[in-house]
Amino acid sequence: MSFTTVNPATGEVVETFDGHTPEEVEQRLARAAAAFAEHRRTSFADRARLMRGAADLLDAEQPDVARTVTTEMGKTFAQAKGEVSKCALAMRFFADHAETLLADQPIESAAGRSFVRYQPLGPVLAVMPWNFPLWQVVRFAAPALMAGNVGLLKHASNVPRTALYLGDLFRRAGFPEGCFTTLLVSSGEVAKIIADERIVAVTLTGSERAGASVAAAAGDALKKCVLELGGSDPFVVTAKADLDRAVSVGVRARTQNAGQSCIAAKRFIVEAPVFDRFLERFTDQMAALRVGDPMDPATDLGPLNSRAQQDEVDAQVEDARSKGATVTCGGERPGGPGFYYPPTVLTGITGDMRVAREEVFGPVALVWPAADLREVVRLANDTPYGLGASVWTGDQSEQRRLVDEIDAGQVFVNAMVASTPELPFGGIKRSGYGRELSELGIKEFCNAKAVWVA
Ligand code: NAP
Repeated sequence: MSFTTVNPATGEVVETFDGHTPEEVEQRLARAAAAFAEHRRTSFADRARLMRGAADLLDAEQPDVARTVTTEMGKTFAQAKGEVSKCALAMRFFADHAETLLADQPIESAAGRSFVRYQPLGPVLAVMPWNFPLWQVVRFAAPALMAGNVGLLKHASNVPRTALYLGDLFRRAGFPEGCFTTLLVSSGEVAKIIADERIVAVTLTGSERAGASVAAAAGDALKKCVLELGGSDPFVVTAKADLDRAVSVGVRARTQNAGQSCIAAKRFIVEAPVFDRFLERFTDQMAALRVGDPMDPATDLGPLNSRAQQDEVDAQVEDARSKGATVTCGGERPGGPGFYYPPTVLTGITGDMRVAREEVFGPVALVWPAADLREVVRLANDTPYGLGASVWTGDQSEQRRLVDEIDAGQVFVNAMVASTPELPFGGIKRSGYGRELSELGIKEFCNAKAVWVA
């Protein structure tokens, strides 16, 4: 099996890499197991020193790394540089806080003394997507390595350069060989690796299809599994919202990363009194965005990640149009060699359209009117997903009600949904289970060992 980097801006093949042979995979698994035996005994201070070293390397190499990411998956160079900086920040966060987050937790009981101690589990397999090809990996790796685990990365097939860079990064920062290893393997090889007795747990960020398959393999092998899957997040605007801000942030929340984000705002639910004004301004701002060369600083949206992604978004929009949706801007796939798709706004969505139930992984916004707050909540929850939600209202009682009643892993009030190292990140329903980041995330791959001292 080989892995190819195709530049989504041009459709050209940039580089091809040979996959790892079964012998090479075996060697890497053995190294990971040996590395864990040592790494678990190192101090938080030693791990933190190495983690800060990795963050310093990322900062120093930011432009080169960002260029690699842009060339492999098409996000703008500016957003790629932002992703590099965010990774360095998360590494420093876990370097600074892992010891406190994992401190013994005293428990009142009939014992003389009792507490919970958090200890690492072992080698964890991470199956990761291409859309934030650095961030998705680092938000697993930084807490996992700081907790004393070791990691093996099976990255998406279309980002082999970034995958190899990440494996190399931790080694160059001084983590011993085997602490973090890239495996260039196909998705068909994942179940066998999960079943390997040296692997103790698996985390997957990706589609529901991949999640179901990895969860089945983990279940079969009785191994811990964390799933970060898709989303179709609501972006709620009530009549009491700051409309100008809601419009401009809404445009960003839908189009960042060319719309290819699990926590992008995908379904805009707008209270009737402000619906027309919202739709008009939102459409104008979406239409004004500049689509083009992702290396050009004036570009707002680069291409989608692949021809398949472009085909899929186009098919979803065509399906909605054919069933009566109104396209207020965009909706026409451009010709040419790159995998571009324009910012698009659809209204008049009905339940029989694919977009009403599926995630749309591109810059396509669906806008619904809602008669009142009750209908807002009904529409917001009328989805198989439950990842994030952004709610816009200046009224505190509306804020409380929306925070309480929307079914999602995270609700952001008067702000777009984002991930940050301090807050737990994850979903409910078909968006997956488990949490990343924060105290909850670092504890996912720890043994919570109860200790009773008589
Ligand atoms: P994907 O096709 O599911 O791929 C994700 C990873 O899973 C890749 O490494 C892929 O490898 C692997 N994979 C695919 N099928 C597999 C299988 N049957 N068994 C084992 N591994 C398998 O998803 P994607 O298109 O790259 O990413 C987009 C999806 O990720 C969207 O649904 C998005 O919402 C979701 N996502 C979720 C979060 C979150 O935190 N909740 C964050 C980012 C993205 P190959 O590339 O080799 O197929």
